[in-house]
Amino acid sequence: MKQVTDNVYVDTGLRGCNPGFVITEEGIVMIDSPQRPSDTLKWRDEMKGKGEIRYLINTEPHPDHITGNFFFPETVVAHQGTREAFCSLSVNMIMDRIKAIDPEELPLMEGYFLKAPSITFSERLFLYLGHHSFELIHLPGHTASQIAVYIPEERVVFTGDNVFHKVQTFLHQSYPDEWLRSLKRIEDLDVDLIVPGHGGVCDKSYLKEQASFIEEWTEAVREAIRQGLSKEEAQAKISFLDRYPMDIGLAARGPEVQRMNVERLYDVLKGR
Ligand SMILES: [Zn+2]
Repeated sequence: MKQVTDNVYVDTGLRGCNPGFVITEEGIVMIDSPQRPSDTLKWRDEMKGKGEIRYLINTEPHPDHITGNFFFPETVVAHQGTREAFCSLSVNMIMDRIKAIDPEELPLMEGYFLKAPSITFSERLFLYLGHHSFELIHLPGHTASQIAVYIPEERVVFTGDNVFHKVQTFLHQSYPDEWLRSLKRIEDLDVDLIVPGHGGVCDKSYLKEQASFIEEWTEAVREAIRQGLSKEEAQAKISFLDRYPMDIGLAARGPEVQRMNVERLYDVLKGR
């Protein structure tokens, strides 16, 4: 866990997403939580020494962001689409993922259930605690219900997985055109720091690189379609694995993620 501004803490060294929290005069607001139950429990204990937890915000519905909700009795806030995406998840799916990471984690998950967000919004939601404001902004891209959490008093934005800083980008449920527009909107925020969904904390200078990687991916698949390649042929041909490492613990999934990215972009570009 690292303090990145006066009141903002982030951990970019865990397997899973980058969880963070903000300390306000009226308690703690969390942004996502660690994926591995033992990390979440450690995280929860460390936070308890700093104040009362008030809210947990989910930036998207992928398991590496929402698995830990179960460990927090507090109110979960997210986009309405993230709540709806909980229908496509199952306890078994989450258990299988954790088992694959480390079977010794399973006893910590006794009684596990999927804890869905209970406060949702569609375009924008403001939360005020003490002298802090949290602006939750719908910015579709990595997923349809992706949000950013902008905290002007700390000059920080949590972008979730719309930013993968110097690690492989997952496009398997993406909307590439919307994603590029969302990156432009992040560019307009008055911030010094970006907390990405994966990879180290960065600043706005990285947004261009993230955008051009999405453009390159899209162009490679568009070119394959132009050449008449089938989806399978495109999957066999296209890989950007040499560009960035996979995030922590995911190296073995590299080739699969490339195939998932091609499949998604192929379908998007074919209008399916
Ligand atoms: Zn994700």
